Amino acid sequence: METDIPEKALHRRRRPLLSQLASTMLESVLPSSCAGCRRDAPVLCTECRPEMPKMRPPFCEVCARPGAAGVCYQCLTRPPGFDGIRVPFLHEGTARTLVHRLKYANYRVYARTMAELMAECLEEQPVTVDTVVAVPLHGKRERERGYNQSELLARELGQLFGLAVEARALRKSRETEPQVALEKAEERRRNVQGVFACGADMSGKRVLLVDDVVTTGATMSACASALKEAGAEAVWGVAFVRQPPPR
Ligand SMILES: [Zn+2]
Ligand SMILES: [Zn+2]
Repeated sequence: METDIPEKALHRRRRPLLSQLASTMLESVLPSSCAGCRRDAPVLCTECRPEMPKMRPPFCEVCARPGAAGVCYQCLTRPPGFDGIRVPFLHEGTARTLVHRLKYANYRVYARTMAELMAECLEEQPVTVDTVVAVPLHGKRERERGYNQSELLARELGQLFGLAVEARALRKSRETEPQVALEKAEERRRNVQGVFACGADMSGKRVLLVDDVVTTGATMSACASALKEAGAEAVWGVAFVRQPPPR
């Protein structure tokens, strides 16, 4: 089921009633309808929450690529910078709506619920970490959006697990093509190569690296490599959704 329609409904509903500023403030404190069915419920109603598009095995033990049993061909032939990725959902249906709104419609308040769902996944497939870092946006993109959605998720996860948060340890030095727009694995690797740098000393740390969407793992891998260059002992990725790989 495609659920992009609510975005349009949202714009129709709020423009005549409230100024942009007031509606922004409202959305940051008070989501009034379920992202799945639009019934009155904060973020997700009790019926839609268990209906989320869960990642089901088989998926790669390392990069969570759907459909791969054990360790996928890409991870075997070109091991990624991270130690593994945990992802609760596929990028479709209500999971896609949540990401879309968090990212483009200023629903920052969704971060808490989304982080709780990511935390459930981490409880099912545990990792040992000391600190939480977010996949960065390029400065210009972050200024346009006003926030980095991955940083919001990272801060919530840090709070939920009582972990140190160094959300902004990584920097992105230039804007890149969206990974989803690139077809070949090699193109996606080149697109993010040398783009991320770590400004903090990560010596001996085991890092939980947080993003909203994993496309192929190339971004996470580049970020993890930068963290390991800065001394990180291990890097575990967690994202809210995983894009199935192109056929
Ligand atoms: Zn619902
Ligand atoms: Zn893999």
